[in-house]
Amino acid sequence: MIDLHVHSTASDGSESPAAVVRMAAAAGISSLALTDHDTQAGIAEARAEASKVGLELIPGTELSLQWDQGAMHLVVLFLEPGPGPLQDRLAALRIGRTDRNSRIIARLDELGVPITEEELSKQAGGESVGRPHIAAVMVRRGYVETIYEAFDRYLALGKPGYMSRLRLSPEEAIGLARDSGAVPIVAHPHTLGLNNSEEVAATLRRLAGAGLAGIECYYPLYSPLEREGYAALAQRFGLKPSGGSDFHGAYKPDVELGVGRGNLSVPDHLLDALRPA
Ligand code: AMP
Ligand code: FE
Ligand code: FE
Ligand code: ZN
Repeated sequence: MIDLHVHSTASDGSESPAAVVRMAAAAGISSLALTDHDTQAGIAEARAEASKVGLELIPGTELSLQWDQGAMHLVVLFLEPGPGPLQDRLAALRIGRTDRNSRIIARLDELGVPITEEELSKQAGGESVGRPHIAAVMVRRGYVETIYEAFDRYLALGKPGYMSRLRLSPEEAIGLARDSGAVPIVAHPHTLGLNNSEEVAATLRRLAGAGLAGIECYYPLYSPLEREGYAALAQRFGLKPSGGSDFHGAYKPDVELGVGRGNLSVPDHLLDALRPA
């Protein structure tokens, strides 16, 4: 079993990079990609633990891209930490988060559900602070029962506490990933907000033309039929299938490493095709 999409306390996961690696090894995962949002701060710790427990750690990140119809996220695999074309842009994206988070806090104040910057940075712990941390503070304050409720009522796209933030265009992000020797993959394609097969085809043609390497065909809650549909689309546009749980620990309490919501199993052989040349 492999898992190519996982978050830690370096971004909006609840478990430390070392803990995620230990949990993955215990779950029988042989290769694990750490893909924290807009940061690679967890990679060194995860790698050190991976070499102890005998697991392959694939360094990565996840980016949110400019896309008006829905959420387009790019999982970037085999991105080596350190200087590089994409690596050098991550700090600006994190500053964009800080700016966005302040605007969300101001809006929550107007909505009568105030939280403070101090509570938020304490909740997050790391350098990449996001909406799940805001949601967790709202749960602590008693405004909502669950993180999901905080998104449904306040933080999701279209809800009163939603604020946009600095994002790269798909072409720019894919180009930077390729120039960094990494492997860009469209994450959880159901969130793209595409309405019909023409829109799907036009989008994948555009992204493949920009140098996209793959799409996530294996993701929690995808039925065998959906998985096969995405795999057929991947093949049609010369893209490779990928997959992962999008594990966030307590921030997504129903999603487990490797198996997702119970029905996920990403085949090992996908990784051979995804490795950079
Ligand atoms: P951000 O990157 O700070 O804008 O927050 C995006 C993150 O919030 C995603 O990576 C998920 O972890 C989480 N998220 C987005 N939408 C939802 C939702 N509807 N319910 C729960 N978590 C969500
Ligand atoms: Fe996340
Ligand atoms: Fe995502
Ligand atoms: Zn993710």
